[in-house]
Amino acid sequence: MSADTPRVFFPILARKGGYPKKEDGSYYGYGYYRAHVAADCEQRCVYCDATDAEVEVMQIDHFRPESFTEFEALANDPLNLHYACARCNRWKWDNWPARGTPHTHDGENGFVDPFKEDRSEYFEVKSDGRVEALKPPANYMIRLLHLQREYLRKLREKRLLLAELRMCRASLKAELQADLDSGRRSDPRVMLEFIERWERFEALLG
Ligand SMILES: [Zn+2]
Repeated sequence: MSADTPRVFFPILARKGGYPKKEDGSYYGYGYYRAHVAADCEQRCVYCDATDAEVEVMQIDHFRPESFTEFEALANDPLNLHYACARCNRWKWDNWPARGTPHTHDGENGFVDPFKEDRSEYFEVKSDGRVEALKPPANYMIRLLHLQREYLRKLREKRLLLAELRMCRASLKAELQADLDSGRRSDPRVMLEFIERWERFEALLG
């Protein structure tokens, strides 16, 4: 996949900033920033990577849990807010193994900060849609957040197949255009292969 191809999973995230504040310089309640946080997270759950079109309920997650006194001041700080699906958010709850350190994980357990690190260095999605841990704390996250749940596996498998189909469609289009331009005849095998992939996709959708 070239650098220009959009990533299928775990895009690199960057804070877009521009979070409005009250006149006294403090933040509004965290719910106020929902649209900002969703845009920062590319409309995806930062944990399982499902988009808000793929799951029913998305919520605002306090990355450093607000229930801990040392993080109380971050309760409404948009930089501590992540977009998360209701399931991941519930399972994450107030787990924070790196408590007492400035880090987000202790080298074994904890969470990858999606705005500081590239999650594709921690997680690899296999062709069957299962997610594999490449290094800690990915295993901890997979276990705690149930990232192998069947619903997510199917979502990932479909997304992979859809990405493959789009690439295939683009190359078929280029092939046909080249035929038109040069006056040669299309190779029917290329079109047959495309149709077979389309059939596999339809079968998966059920
Ligand atoms: Zn999720």
